[in-house]
Amino acid sequence: MSKGKINVAVENIFPLIKKFLYSDHEIFLRELISNATDATTKLTHLSSIGEIKGNIGTPKIEIKLDSKNKTLHVIDQGVGMTDVEVNKYINEVAFSGAEEFLEKYKDSQDSGIIGHFGLGFYSAFMVADKVEIITKSHTKKPAAHWTCDGSPEYTLVKSSKKERGTEIILHISKDSKEFLEESRIRELLLKYNKFMPIPIKFGSKEIDLPLPKGSPKDAKPKKETVDDIINNTNPAWTKTPKDLSDEDYNSFYRELYPSQFEPPLFNIHLNVDYPFHLTGILYFPKINNDINIQKDKIQLYQNQVFVTDNVEGIVPEFLTLLRGVIDSPDIPLNVSRSYLQADGAVKKISNYITRKVGDKLNSLFKKDRKSFEEKWNDIKVVIEYGMLSEDKFFDKADKFALYPTTTGKYYTYSELEGKIKPVQTDKDGKLIILYTNDIEDQHSYIKNAEEKGYTVLLLDSPIISHLIQKMETSKEKISFCRVDGDSIENLIKKEESIASKLNDKQKDKLKPMIEEFVKESGYMVQLEPMESKSLPFVLAQPEFMRRMKEMQQTGGGGMMGNNMPGMYTLLVNTNHELITQILETKTAKKRERLINQGMDLAKLSQGLLKGEALTKFLQRSLEFIK
Ligand code: ADP
Ligand code: MG
Repeated sequence: MSKGKINVAVENIFPLIKKFLYSDHEIFLRELISNATDATTKLTHLSSIGEIKGNIGTPKIEIKLDSKNKTLHVIDQGVGMTDVEVNKYINEVAFSGAEEFLEKYKDSQDSGIIGHFGLGFYSAFMVADKVEIITKSHTKKPAAHWTCDGSPEYTLVKSSKKERGTEIILHISKDSKEFLEESRIRELLLKYNKFMPIPIKFGSKEIDLPLPKGSPKDAKPKKETVDDIINNTNPAWTKTPKDLSDEDYNSFYRELYPSQFEPPLFNIHLNVDYPFHLTGILYFPKINNDINIQKDKIQLYQNQVFVTDNVEGIVPEFLTLLRGVIDSPDIPLNVSRSYLQADGAVKKISNYITRKVGDKLNSLFKKDRKSFEEKWNDIKVVIEYGMLSEDKFFDKADKFALYPTTTGKYYTYSELEGKIKPVQTDKDGKLIILYTNDIEDQHSYIKNAEEKGYTVLLLDSPIISHLIQKMETSKEKISFCRVDGDSIENLIKKEESIASKLNDKQKDKLKPMIEEFVKESGYMVQLEPMESKSLPFVLAQPEFMRRMKEMQQTGGGGMMGNNMPGMYTLLVNTNHELITQILETKTAKKRERLINQGMDLAKLSQGLLKGEALTKFLQRSLEFIK
């Protein structure tokens, strides 16, 4: 027997390990299973190069709970260690890793990052007061038994273990009782080890044996007890795309997100060896307008070991709306997030992913435009978000980003430009792009525009006002105008203007009359000679104010504070018959009724007439037809 003291500079290293890793205690199991996997992979390697003779079988890893003795066992059939190796790798090397770690992070308050450090073997002490290693090397050397109770002292004795491999025994501490529950361990295994390359057994299960041929219909199948293997050792992302069918990709998606019923729209298989190593599959799910709850579904792995589902800094922000898996051993995880973002290699990874997504979208668009158009509504948020946040993606997306019209057509930007330029260029040579965000609410405005032969886009994403803003600055002489921003004549000003039926004197009389009426609502009154068949009163929301407000609501952009003045302008169509009537009516009472009725119609067409005002309008309308 040998007794020793682990060589420590920091005497109280174990309490420190506990304290520092507090937020992430559960990773101990992942670390131990990673070691067991490494030991097994080494074994297979040694066997394949002939250094180990004989059949090594199909080594597996077993996780066992012993609730009576309050222990958790991680057992592998890998290379094992001799006593000399235990001294070297556990007492010296592993420990120096722990020391180095503490040295580096002793001042750090950010315990979140530390969980990713991978303290390895010693993380076992986060949950156990005592840890034992019983290990038999693949060589002829006798087995060894190491015990350490969490102080820097350990014992190392011979063991009678005969079979090759290592068993780690954790005596779970009082405050970590949760790790003695089978459901908790299963949860951890499924979270961290679901796709690891060596089979992991956790208990056993009963399966139905296939019925022999010719059995009666109501025959009960025989049961058999087999190992419960919790992992898929060959996940789809480790294979090559040509070996995978659409169904394979979809079934892997279901494996990743078992509670997700909707299949993904399409996927992108990532695979690169140089200048960094990265594999993975990203899926485009259907994305609705509620962006925030859909984020952070991408899982990050290192060599098939789950690390985190926070891929911030590694995947560009706009792609965090996607789902799937990224596996790269080249992402440094033992650093803070801000450092990660500045890291050159990580930048390259992020750029690579952005480029691949752009290429895939472009090829889908080129290959089958119709199906791309059909998917547009479900994917546009990601693309628009990307165009907004990544300039390179903005340039690339110019080829496939679509602009749907109210009549169900889809144009790329250049197609749109070609189509509307002849009609929608105003007298200053500016191209006016008309849009609506709600076909129902803005129906009368859309109709007005379409009657003039204009095209109206349907742009209804939550971040569209930001994107429009960006488009206007990156393209020359264009302006996006929502159809209800002003009278259509004012939105696209032409050389020839419509003559007003009213003379200046009449106008001077009319304006204060109306103003007096709408004083309380705070509308700006503007007299406008429009087509006589347009409405007598039109409520407009000037583009600039409205857009600033929207941008503010969806984050950033605005600088005007929340109390933005008068969102509505009341346009009075001086060419409408009702306006002439209002002007000519002798009795104040009748005038009031006419203005009220006209105003209510304007509100109605903006969806603003509700409650008591609506009731009054109905009553008044009935009187009109009496
Ligand atoms: P790392 O895995 O990063 O090397 P660890 O602290 O996890 O650091 O493990 C230290 C070393 O102990 C390993 O490199 C390995 O040599 C040895 N070791 C740990 N667990 C096992 C095991 N189950 N079988 C064989 N060797 C092991
Ligand atoms: Mg390790």
